[in-house]
Amino acid sequence: MVDWQYSESIESPDIVSIKKKYTNYIGGKFVEPKSKKYINTISPSTEELLSKVPLSNEQDINSSVKSAKEGFEVWSKLTPNQRSRYLFKIARLIQERSREFAVLESLDGGKPIKESRDFDLPQVAANFFYFAGWADKLDLSWATKSLKPYGVVGQIIPWNFPLLMLAWKIAPALATGNTVVLKPAETTPLTALLFAEICEQAGLPPGVVNIVTGDGSTGSLIVNHKDINKIAFTGSTQVGKLIQNSLAGRDVGLTLELGGKAANIVYEDAAIDQAVEGVVNGIFFNQGHVCCAGSRLLLQESIHDQFVKKLEKRMQSLRVGNPLDKNTDIGAINSKEQLDKITSLVNEGVEDGGELFQTQCELPGNGFWFRPSLFTNVQPSYSIAREEIFGPVLTTLTFRTPEEAVEIANNTEYGLSAGVWTEKGSKILWTADRLDAGVVWANTFNKFDPSSPFGGYKESGFGREGGRHGLLSYLKASS
Ligand code: NAP
Ligand code: MG
Repeated sequence: MVDWQYSESIESPDIVSIKKKYTNYIGGKFVEPKSKKYINTISPSTEELLSKVPLSNEQDINSSVKSAKEGFEVWSKLTPNQRSRYLFKIARLIQERSREFAVLESLDGGKPIKESRDFDLPQVAANFFYFAGWADKLDLSWATKSLKPYGVVGQIIPWNFPLLMLAWKIAPALATGNTVVLKPAETTPLTALLFAEICEQAGLPPGVVNIVTGDGSTGSLIVNHKDINKIAFTGSTQVGKLIQNSLAGRDVGLTLELGGKAANIVYEDAAIDQAVEGVVNGIFFNQGHVCCAGSRLLLQESIHDQFVKKLEKRMQSLRVGNPLDKNTDIGAINSKEQLDKITSLVNEGVEDGGELFQTQCELPGNGFWFRPSLFTNVQPSYSIAREEIFGPVLTTLTFRTPEEAVEIANNTEYGLSAGVWTEKGSKILWTADRLDAGVVWANTFNKFDPSSPFGGYKESGFGREGGRHGLLSYLKASS
């Protein structure tokens, strides 16, 4: 048999010019950090240094919050139509510079270019267009309620969808008349800083968007600043809990989008090949660095062996490697720390007694990589069945009846998403009705639209992003 291989098809990095060093974006200006300290950001696929960004301290946060407060005086007095036009302009500029953003996202974070190009960037632009459409219709939506913006919103985001999480946060906040101080994650700050250039290009009034970089300590300074009116956080449940504690007793709004351990339930009457494809997408999309990843595969016992065989065969064809290669399915793990976390959980799974299947692809020499992995023979008590691995690792459990499927699916501290695969519409509705999950996908997985609210239950957090619900997260009752 001839072993046909794909030829390389590398997206050129030349479209982006990465500066040696970046500054914060505060009050409409690019300013050196008062801390005078910087942190490195590397490419996780090569471990090469890409650039340095500010490690912002208290003085930097003070000036960004002050500037957002001044920006609010201007922004909140504009007409809704004027705010809408700015958001529309930002959306158009993102579309124009889409390739540049996609390449930078893949370089800084390690995700495959086909995902940053065909998923992240189109979704980013769609979010700004969508919320531009709402900005001048808020009074029509809640005619009986009197709502007003919070004022200055602190926004803290993770590294898995850096620019998309920025869009989910900034677009609805601005559409509702708030101003923001946003901190991107330590390992993926570059697209947020490029977005600052878009704000400048769009002529956004100074102080409406402030981007400050740093680490967890910088995030904590934003949370604890006395002039912050609301915090919107996406990240781990652990840090979410810390933030909730810090805000207790203070008049500060809060939304938390936290972790997940989603069940992807496949009934015996499902279209098996279609379900295999959906399960692969559910866990291997973005290296499994997805809060709503379908990381627990729940198979009806009667189809277990057949399904696992097909799944392993399909996994063998996943191409792992250079994020800038247009054929790559799975890119680099975002950081050494994340790779260590995945490795240790997988080792624990093996010690517990799980049966591990990993694809035998060749991995690049430098950078952080993890083979697509599948666990069978797993007990619900194992860590790999309970903890969020946040990597390309799928854990399989079995069930006999729909009641049992629902019981296992809900037997988790999380409640962010779930998937159901069956040819029977009534079974989809029966199951979805009983799942404690913010989103339930039926015969598909990981589908997003700006008009569809997203968010969790239980330890996956509270508040919604997207849709009308997402607007309400940035509005409060007028006193
Ligand atoms: P993380 O450690 O909680 O970090 C998230 C953000 O918070 C980063 O910007 C981080 O800064 C900052 N931060 C860290 N410590 C802080 C503190 N004490 N106070 C304030 N901010 C602090 O999470 P992660 O490991 O980056 O991201 C993965 C997690 O995010 C997963 O659990 C995933 O499920 C969740 N997630 C949820 C959603 C959702 O919509 N529900 C979406 C994406 C990801 P540094 O990066 O500089 O440390
Ligand atoms: Mg990086």
